[in-house]
Amino acid sequence: MNSDQMVNAFDASRAGDLSPSVRDLIARRERALGGAYRLFYASPVHFVRGEGVYLYDPDGRAYLDAYNNVPSVGHSHPRVTGAVTRQLQALNTHTRYLTDGVVDYAERLLATHSMTKAAAGAAHAMFTCTGSEANDLALRIARHHTGGTGVIVTANAYHGVTAAVAEVSPSLGIPLGPHVRTVPAPPRADDVAAAIADLAGQGIRLAAFLADSLFSSDGVLPGAAELRQVRDLVRAAGGLYIADEVQSGFGRTGSHLWGYQRHGLDPDIVTMGKPMGNGMPIAGIVARHEVLEDFGRTARYFNTFGGNPVCVAAATAVLDVLESEDLPANAAATGAYLKAEITGLRADSLAEVRGAGLYLGVDVIDPATGKPSGDRAAAIVNGMRDRRVLISATGPLGHTLKIRPLLPSQRRPAPVGPVRGAQATRLTRPGAGMLG
Ligand code: PMP
Repeated sequence: MNSDQMVNAFDASRAGDLSPSVRDLIARRERALGGAYRLFYASPVHFVRGEGVYLYDPDGRAYLDAYNNVPSVGHSHPRVTGAVTRQLQALNTHTRYLTDGVVDYAERLLATHSMTKAAAGAAHAMFTCTGSEANDLALRIARHHTGGTGVIVTANAYHGVTAAVAEVSPSLGIPLGPHVRTVPAPPRADDVAAAIADLAGQGIRLAAFLADSLFSSDGVLPGAAELRQVRDLVRAAGGLYIADEVQSGFGRTGSHLWGYQRHGLDPDIVTMGKPMGNGMPIAGIVARHEVLEDFGRTARYFNTFGGNPVCVAAATAVLDVLESEDLPANAAATGAYLKAEITGLRADSLAEVRGAGLYLGVDVIDPATGKPSGDRAAAIVNGMRDRRVLISATGPLGHTLKIRPLLPSQRRPAPVGPVRGAQATRLTRPGAGMLG
């Protein structure tokens, strides 16, 4: 796929089919925003409000959100909006002043990570605003600690937008850095050993192996039997294992709070983002003490907005909600149900259904040939959108449906929220009558 293409991107040459108001907003957007933005769907959706597992268009129609991995505890969750509002009214500064919230939150976050079990001080947290910045910082720390520059990633990985992480993100379709090697996903020990040897052959020392614990952009691959061996090989070569938990973190996979815990390994650095603040820009890393020690002494780190009190309030509320509403357990139960229901559809064009918790990948094939079909996947994604259920597609061929309902999602759709807006007259559940 070229860098200008994106799975499930809107094709502007087909804008003629859209309603005048949507067409007008798209035209204004194209004039005002930089050209690199892409909209989703053949017929883009316009939202004015979100509540629980639903998003609402200007006519008050509800769409079931089975895609977004940011408002993970629910759109406009009252505990998050309440915490943010109170903190914004009280104080918003930065990490160069003493405040309680960031310390309380860091202690609580650290306690959830396996590599911190040994003792307090065994690992530390650092905060950023985005997942890209978290991966960028993790790579800087890895290079500082190891003295190497080489990075190994999976073949269709995505790790973010900064210059340093874009060149370790093959899914962007832009040239990779000369110090970057890719391995097929899920990673196998032999392939990683070969990549390490190849780097060494070019005189490049390994700094890190960086992997999304759910291999989302590689097509959602929950099984990765050799990851621990990979971690051991990477360490033996002097590199660090960085677990990118931007997609798989905060209970998304159901059985564990963190994706790496599903694979039974302790990384050297964990990067987090997306659902961390339920929409407020907070992301960050947790790293083992030894890995951070020298970087902490010699580098100076200040990220103006990273870990500010308002975003920390949001992140704290997210942990509160995850715990009090038992959302990882709900993700496990609803995810298992959804997986079984989709598997039970036995539609000709659906092949393997896989995933963990509320993150599912469904391969779409052309029944005539049995081959992966990105076009059919796109047709399903757009058909679901027309039925007001939001999903998308992923993977190197764009043929894997990416289904990622919000963590409070139930077997039966929750009642849709009260309709606001004069034009809203009739309200039906999104996708009603679609699955059964
Ligand atoms: N890592 C992974 C695995 C991601 O999926 C993403 C975002 N899609 C990022 C990093 C980058 O996060 P952000 O967009 O917050 O910079």
